[in-house]
Amino acid sequence: MSDFVVGLTGGIGSGKSTVADLFVEQGATLVDTDAIAHELTGVGGAAMPALVAEFGAAVAAVDGAMDRAAMRQLVFADPSARVRLEGILHPLIRQLSAERCRAAGSPYVILAVPLLVESGTYRERCDRIVVVDCPESLQIERVMARNGMLVDEVKAIMAVQATRQQRLAVANDVVVNDADQAKLHVQVAVLHRKYLMLSAEKVKASC
Ligand code: ADP
Repeated sequence: MSDFVVGLTGGIGSGKSTVADLFVEQGATLVDTDAIAHELTGVGGAAMPALVAEFGAAVAAVDGAMDRAAMRQLVFADPSARVRLEGILHPLIRQLSAERCRAAGSPYVILAVPLLVESGTYRERCDRIVVVDCPESLQIERVMARNGMLVDEVKAIMAVQATRQQRLAVANDVVVNDADQAKLHVQVAVLHRKYLMLSAEKVKASC
């Protein structure tokens, strides 16, 4: 059971998933709220009955997973639909992620939350917050390449996220992702040792 939670966040395209994978390579357990959201809305997902009850059968595809395009259209046409969707998903994500953090067998857990800075609930759960940071121009470049999006589409997403300064203001640690993966690896290895030490200190203090 793990009692030391490191919240991992960063703007879109900053390199959160890449950094999370490197922590897993070091031996950390990853609890990823985005992956949990996909699980809940996938085939046999625990959120699907509530979503169908709320929005109708059209939001489920033939296999029972959420029809993402149909849901996107609903949310686009009716802003209250997003609030209702989040009202169903967010409590389930909070509950499942908390359970998985508690159940983790590693000395510390990486809790990946894209909107960690925007969310008080998740911040409260973290012993430390690590922010993946890079220049905004690089974020835009990476997301355009990864998702085939236009510059304005990426900028629109960034505009509703916390700013780079707001994220850095709550960071205990920062991973600078402005160069190659080798540079990332070194930073993650250093932080891994630090989190092992801090988690061991916490265990000792609670005995
Ligand atoms: P996030 O999870 O924050 O949205 P990702 O980890 O998915 O970001 O990274 C965005 C894209 O940029 C991915 O395609 C990823 O492979 C690439 N990327 C991230 N960091 C680097 C890096 N240091 N060098 C090269 N490509 C990178």
